[in-house]
Amino acid sequence: MDKDKLKKLAADPKFIPGIYNYCNRWCERCEFIEKCLNYAIGKEDERFSSVNMNNESFTGQMIETLKASQELLKEIADEEGVDLTNVNAEEIAHEEKKKRKEDEKHTCAKAAMQYTKAVKEWFDTSEHTFKEKEDELNNEYQLEIPNTNPFEESEVIFDAVEVIRWYQHQIYVKIMRALHGREFEDIEELDEFPKDSDGSAKVALIAIDNSIDAWEKLRTNLTDEEDKILDIIIHLDKLRKDLEAEFPDARNFVRPGFDEYV
Ligand code: SF4
Repeated sequence: MDKDKLKKLAADPKFIPGIYNYCNRWCERCEFIEKCLNYAIGKEDERFSSVNMNNESFTGQMIETLKASQELLKEIADEEGVDLTNVNAEEIAHEEKKKRKEDEKHTCAKAAMQYTKAVKEWFDTSEHTFKEKEDELNNEYQLEIPNTNPFEESEVIFDAVEVIRWYQHQIYVKIMRALHGREFEDIEELDEFPKDSDGSAKVALIAIDNSIDAWEKLRTNLTDEEDKILDIIIHLDKLRKDLEAEFPDARNFVRPGFDEYV
């Protein structure tokens, strides 16, 4: 997509500004796809790529859109009198790397990374549990056992697995963004504005809430795994409390669209 098309698309008032900054990126399940510029750009690129399958690769299209975004950024910087050539990219990259290393040592970041690994480990070792459950549900269906609903139960399990998998890495990513962003917000003039770090922490907290709910459903339905799942829930719950203590205003952050129509 070229710069002018991007500009025209972005000017459409139907889009909620910045909605994509504090969402869970689960577009398939999002009720705001019609109001999201990010989604619209993705769809437009997808459409263009499939129409031009023979002479335009998907990567080429991505580069084109990134180029257009860069040009747009430069145009806005020029209008605002900001000299982007004055920016020392190497120095910034070095500082970013240093800061990232520090953030990785934070209790919340470490706990989130542990969680990511624990999820992988649990799924790696639970294949037999799912197989047994599948046999049990098939049995219930074939024998028409009263007071059972194998379809509903399998749907609950399937959905819980999808939710856990969706947030498995996102919790860590959002916590890192919250920790990282906080440093740049420590300016008195910004005090009255909502903080990006709180927004990111809120997205992480919601991801934790949803993951805990999903694990509870698995705990109810996969009783053999009850103890292991309980350990994971306890770990997540502690992370949730630590994160709330670290970002006490996060729950009150108003996410455009999701918490308030803007
Ligand atoms: S706001 Fe919704 S549609 Fe837009 S990127 Fe986020 S999940 Fe996808």
